[in-house]
Amino acid sequence: MNAIEYMQQELQTLKEHSNLRRLPQMTHDGRTVLADGRRMLNLSSNDYLGLAADRKLREEFLQTLTPDTFQPTSSSSRLLTGNFGVYEELETELATLFGTEAALVFNSGYHANTGILPAVSDAQTLILADKLVHASIIDGIRLSAARCIRYRHNDLAQLERLLEQHHAAYRQLIIVTESIFSMDGDQADLTTLVHLKKRYPNVLLYVDEAHAFGVRGTHGLGCAEESGCIRDIDFLVGTFGKAAASAGAYIACCRTIREYLVNRMRTFIFTTALPPTSIAWTLFIVRKLAGMQDRRKHLASISRMLREALQAKGYDCPSVSHIVPLVVGPSADTVLRAEMLQRHGFYALPVRPPTVPEGTSRIRFSLTADIEEREIEEIIQYIFI
Ligand SMILES: *Cc1c(COP(=O)(O)O)cnc(C)c1O
Repeated sequence: MNAIEYMQQELQTLKEHSNLRRLPQMTHDGRTVLADGRRMLNLSSNDYLGLAADRKLREEFLQTLTPDTFQPTSSSSRLLTGNFGVYEELETELATLFGTEAALVFNSGYHANTGILPAVSDAQTLILADKLVHASIIDGIRLSAARCIRYRHNDLAQLERLLEQHHAAYRQLIIVTESIFSMDGDQADLTTLVHLKKRYPNVLLYVDEAHAFGVRGTHGLGCAEESGCIRDIDFLVGTFGKAAASAGAYIACCRTIREYLVNRMRTFIFTTALPPTSIAWTLFIVRKLAGMQDRRKHLASISRMLREALQAKGYDCPSVSHIVPLVVGPSADTVLRAEMLQRHGFYALPVRPPTVPEGTSRIRFSLTADIEEREIEEIIQYIFI
């Protein structure tokens, strides 16, 4: 069997297990998508505040653009000629909002998570990572020289034992977690994590707020703002690709970490910086986030509605956020349920292995602030047909 035949056979196996992925064909229109000739409410988007679907925001931003100010490329890494002023403007704004010494912007959350840990780790580093951290963090750990132990999901008692057992044997230990988890929509206990981290001087804390930035906290800065522990987190990371309706990612940190990353982080150094106009749009949105409290409240309210309806029907739903999974189990059944919802005009997608553990295939509702209560009621009705 040659290499291509081998790939064909592997793809056939995926297909037989209902785990074959394909790129969906669709067009977007505000909150809805058009696919297979149907218009459906998008329940799978990460546009958590509904800002990407908000035409007025785009109109307002476009007022600022002329052929001279529209800069579609930076043409270089920021260490060469790509460090346009708007980058530092955004970083200063972020540091001010977070109340940290510094901030640094990256091309994506994927770049951030695959670059930061390898940059700051060596063979004298132990990474203690939650079992359910995002694939990008796993890749960052793999690229690093550190040793890694994964602790059971949100099991901080186990984490405490691991810290006690290993803290003396390493130069540094880095605890790595998400704040809101991608697939279960549950949350890490940041207050306890900070408490554990502070017990030993050589323990650092890394928190990925991908799903919480914009959504949580009275200024939309994330779960760390909500828990009042922003400055106790050494690596406070988030993406602009979700609630902030843009592209790129940030770390809020101390000056030393920022400078270290600028010198050591390969996914920062060896890539063309995002287009300045994309950064200008991010800055435009970031400045508005504090004023989006109504959207955050509505999102929390419809999320609670859906979650409580699932729980009332006996589903074990761990979510405490706008990410609400309906765990079906077998992949084939999950696909059928998702298709049924789609026929009724709700674009919900199945999530299958290897994204989630075998036997826990699910429909993952990813709610946004522009969904109405009556639409949630309708969804609930169709789920339980
Ligand atoms: C989406 C996501 C990322 C990746 O961010 P991008 O900006 O899309 O590359 C990283 N971490 C988590 C937890 C995410 O959900």
